[in-house]
Amino acid sequence: MRAGVIAVQGDVSEHADAVRRAAASHGIDAEIVEIREAGAVPDCDVLLLPGGESTTISRLLREEGIDEELKRHVRDGKPVLATCAGLIVASRDARDERVDTLDLLDVTVDRNAFGRQADSFEAPLDVTGLEEPFPAVFIRAPVIDGEALRASNANAEGVSGGHVEVLAEWNGDPVAVKQGPVVGTSFHPELTDDARIHDLAFFAQEHAGADANVEVAE
Ligand code: GLN
Repeated sequence: MRAGVIAVQGDVSEHADAVRRAAASHGIDAEIVEIREAGAVPDCDVLLLPGGESTTISRLLREEGIDEELKRHVRDGKPVLATCAGLIVASRDARDERVDTLDLLDVTVDRNAFGRQADSFEAPLDVTGLEEPFPAVFIRAPVIDGEALRASNANAEGVSGGHVEVLAEWNGDPVAVKQGPVVGTSFHPELTDDARIHDLAFFAQEHAGADANVEVAE
């Protein structure tokens, strides 16, 4: 399996380690490709969009032409795990014009929303699909707008589908979501020894094209 870690900025090696561990637990060898320019994404089976600084990441993705390749990857129904700043970049709207969002996930996020309360913290999080709570590390984390999510899910009902599933909430706000082949987390699953979120995103669920019922804007 070839796993591409978007490496224009952010915590790349931690994601590489986590995806290797998750793959190894299935007896699969993960070949890691660090992606800094266009051309490598089409050869990847799964992609990781790390945390870091979302305005920088989105600008570099656009400048390098990686943004369009990411959208193509999702349209093809191939898995992506986007964490923290990666979630912000993957969202439909980050309520901040400095972030060029990719619209891989139909969510609206508020950058640094937890920052007002606590800059960073760790919390045991109940996550759909995991038997034991996950030790979630939040660092200047975004929150997902639950109301906007419910409204867009309501509108998405019908043939075009593409519902966003909330996998975890913290204080009533969604902090982990899944839509088709894309999983996004506000927190940093790569900063613990626990690779269950990587496992959930890449191995524990079906990502067949038909299941990837997600509209990504051209
Ligand atoms: N607050 C950062 C941003 O808006 C994200 C922080 C992180 O990835 N840890 O880009």
